[in-house]
Amino acid sequence: MPPITDVPCPQLVPGDAGYDDARKIWNGEIDRKPAIIAQVTGPADVAACLTYARANDLEVTVRGGGHNLGGAAVADGALLIDLGGLRTVHVDPVNRTARVGGGATNADLDAATQAHGLAVPAGTYSDTGIGGLTLGGGFGWLTGKHGLSVDNLISAEVVLADGRVVRACAQSHPDLFWALRGGGGNFGVVTEFEYRLHPVGPLVDMGLFFFEVERGAQALRLARDLVPTLDGGGLMIVGMTAPPAPFVPAEHHGKLGYGVMLAGFAGTAAFSELAQRVRDTLPPLWEMVTPLPYTELQKSLDGIGYRGNFAYEKSVYAEDLSDGLIDVLVANLPGKASPLSATPIALLSGAYADVPDHATAFGGTRRTGFVVGLTAICPSPELLAADRVWVRDYWEKLLPHASNTGGYVNFMADYEQDRVRLTYGPVKYERLARVKAAYDPDNVFHHNGNIKPALG
Ligand code: FAD
Repeated sequence: MPPITDVPCPQLVPGDAGYDDARKIWNGEIDRKPAIIAQVTGPADVAACLTYARANDLEVTVRGGGHNLGGAAVADGALLIDLGGLRTVHVDPVNRTARVGGGATNADLDAATQAHGLAVPAGTYSDTGIGGLTLGGGFGWLTGKHGLSVDNLISAEVVLADGRVVRACAQSHPDLFWALRGGGGNFGVVTEFEYRLHPVGPLVDMGLFFFEVERGAQALRLARDLVPTLDGGGLMIVGMTAPPAPFVPAEHHGKLGYGVMLAGFAGTAAFSELAQRVRDTLPPLWEMVTPLPYTELQKSLDGIGYRGNFAYEKSVYAEDLSDGLIDVLVANLPGKASPLSATPIALLSGAYADVPDHATAFGGTRRTGFVVGLTAICPSPELLAADRVWVRDYWEKLLPHASNTGGYVNFMADYEQDRVRLTYGPVKYERLARVKAAYDPDNVFHHNGNIKPALG
């Protein structure tokens, strides 16, 4: 396939230097060969790519940060619209807003906004793209205080399937604006997100309390009981193998257990009280409690895995860490093969639960609850083969305890159609399908948690 002559941006085709690097995504298992990789520089390039793809009957994929573990960003023989060149962040500190390129990462966003003492809720891993993250919802340490990324979206510049460029916001294309806030990459290519910012930090507090697997049930109950006391702070519980990291005492490297992670935004005195309550209730095997810059908190989970690891994941939502759910969690964690595979369980509460269910297209209810993730992260394909089975079996056992078995649309390595429907529920899904029919009737954007255009 020759390069697209009427698109002036850099393009790579098989055999070009850089092509093999440009087609890689976070999950090293995905090895697909697009016909053309267009490294777009703005909405006009994106529009020209879409016109070309239509004229030449090419499939289209869109790549933000490349973190979707199923490889939604890249397909064999397709035209890959690579947003990696759109990473600029413009902050307006007076109005507390930021305009952010559709290919920016969490790290780009956090660095630029924190330069003004501001932040917007985004993910907990610095290299994740804000594109896919925001379009699917976007939770992070600030979610209890300020909601999801989508709850802070003011507008989006979108290139539609027919090449039109529109700005969607509450006043203009409100149906599209609603759908973009949770409906994934179904409706167009977002070249710029505009967010509302909040004063945060620069110093915040973090605590990691580790409990060996034998006390896993107690640790999970402790975490459950902390929920009403968090005052907008973040909570994540990670079933994990303690890494050989400098903050883990050497004698506990490689130990299986649960890390109860807390993030505090209400000052170190309040956080110290919370940390003491944890110690008094259940003394951890080891802990790390420290004030740190918000930008460092946002990188604190970067060691969970690396670009090029072989990965797979599934999730459910659970409104309660019930005793039954805890029993399943504790019984199944030891079955993993890779030391990096883990079960991140993130609390969604506070400001998250203040948003009415149907105010955005986010898949999942707005009642306080948890995203229970089951993530295989493996250094080799052999370990992935084992841990893919571990994830699937574990997930089947969690289903009876879940409040939404579809799970988080951003934690889907397989986009099974019935799961996508379950995530959104029938009312939201039908509304999304009508918006899809209006903006992408031919389903050009289908490499995602796909919403089928409504008929008629
Ligand atoms: P990509 O694979 O590039 O894109 C994902 C999907 O979005 C694709 O369908 C793509 O076509 C589409 N897309 C991307 N950008 C655009 C755009 N600008 N316009 C239109 N469509 C677009 N999620 C959380 O909410 N919180 C977390 O803390 C979190 N941590 C994570 C940590 C790791 C290590 C990983 C691998 C994932 C994590 N996620 C988290 C999940 C993450 O939100 C999803 O993987 C998300 O899809 C990543 O977006 P991306 O742009 O990097 O991915």
